[in-house]
Amino acid sequence: MLGGGQLGRFFVISAQNLGYQVTVLDPDQKSPAGLIADIHICAAYDDKSALDQIINTCFAVTTEFENIPFATLKYLENSLIVRPSSQAVSIVQNRIKEKNFLADNKFPVGPFHVIESEDQISKVPDNIFPAILKIAQFGYDGKGQVHVANSNELREAFIKSNYAPCILEKKLPLEIEVSVITARSMSGNHVFFPIAENEHINGILDTTISPGRVSNDIACKVKDYANDIAIKLGYVGVLAVEFFIVEGNIYINEIAPRPHNSGHYSLDACTNNQFDLQVRTLTDLELLDPNFHSNTVMINLLGDIWFKENKLREPNFNILIDEPKVYLHMYGKEEPRKGRKMAHFNVSGDNLNDLLVKASHLKQRLSN
Ligand code: ADP
Ligand code: MG
Repeated sequence: MLGGGQLGRFFVISAQNLGYQVTVLDPDQKSPAGLIADIHICAAYDDKSALDQIINTCFAVTTEFENIPFATLKYLENSLIVRPSSQAVSIVQNRIKEKNFLADNKFPVGPFHVIESEDQISKVPDNIFPAILKIAQFGYDGKGQVHVANSNELREAFIKSNYAPCILEKKLPLEIEVSVITARSMSGNHVFFPIAENEHINGILDTTISPGRVSNDIACKVKDYANDIAIKLGYVGVLAVEFFIVEGNIYINEIAPRPHNSGHYSLDACTNNQFDLQVRTLTDLELLDPNFHSNTVMINLLGDIWFKENKLREPNFNILIDEPKVYLHMYGKEEPRKGRKMAHFNVSGDNLNDLLVKASHLKQRLSN
C-alpha cells in the first residue's frame, strides 16, 4: 500500500481480515496505516531502496493517495502487479490532464480554462466569473483553491500561487453533489456502490447520505458515466467519481483513483465495503457485490471538535459508542488539528430523514 492515511488503514484491515500481510510505504512515522501494517517502510515515495524492498517482498501494489509519483508506479510496474496503473493515476492526479481527458472523451464538465501562464489570463472570457482557481496538482479537501470574482483577482491569485499550473472553473450553482464508487476487475467485471449524496463545508466533506436522494434516471446516468470513465482509463481497482447536479444536468467534478471518503458509509452499510473490493480487485478474488443492507448517514469528525474555547480536550466519544446502530471509526492520528480528518461515524437504520436528525444531534453533542 502506497500511502499510510486512513484510506490505507481501512485497506490494511480488510486485507488482514482475509489473511494477507500488508506493507505500507509512508514517510510519516505515525501514519494511520503504517501503525497497523505488518511492515511499515518509513521512507519517501521515490526512495529507490524502499521501492526495491517492496519489489523483493510484495506480490501486488495499490495506492490510497493520488499524488504518488508517476515514476514510482512505473518502476514498480516493471516487476509487480500495480493497480490502478501508473497511466490511469497520472491522468487523474493532475487536474489539467483529468479535465482534458474528460472533455476529449465528451464527458460533461462545467466551463473551464487551463491557466499555465499569465498571458492566458487575458484570453479568459468574462462570463467564466465568479470562478474557482484550482491548482493542478497536490490539492485536496478544498486546499489549493481560490475563489476569484474577476480577472484582476485571478491574476493576483495566480501570481500568489507562484505561477503553478491551474484550472479555472466556473462556479456552478450546485443543487446537489453526489459520488459513485465502482470496482473493476482485471477481466472487466464491475460492481457499483449505491450513489452517495455529499455535503461539504469549506470544501471539506462533512456529511454523506446513502443512498443519495436522486431520481433513478440520475442514478443510472451517474453509474454509466463512472463505468465509461473506468473503461476509457483501462482501470482496474476501486474508482470514485464526484458529480455536480445543476438544474437537473450532470457535470463530472473529479475522479479519485482509490476508495473515497464518501464511501465510508460502506463500512457499516454493506457486507463488502469499498476496501474489501479494493483487496479483491488487487488479488483477483471474485468481485462480490457490496450488498448494501442499511440506509446510512456518515459524518466526518475533524480536529476542530478537539478544541473548546481554543483549549485542547478529548470529545466524549461515549456519546457515539453507547448508541445502537452508530459506528465510530477513529483513524489513530495522535495530533488533532483544525481541518484534519480524525475520524468519522456512521448512523444506520431505515428512514434517511430520521438518520440525518440523529446524526446531527450526535455531532452537536460531541462538539459541546
Ligand atoms: P478536492 O480535491 O479538494 O475535493 P474539489 O474540486 O472536489 O476538490 O472541490 C471541493 C468542493 O468545492 C466540491 O466538492 C464542491 O463543494 C466545491 N466546488 C468545487 N468546484 C466547484 C465549482 N466549479 N462550482 C461550485 N462548487 C465547487
Ligand atoms: Mg473533491
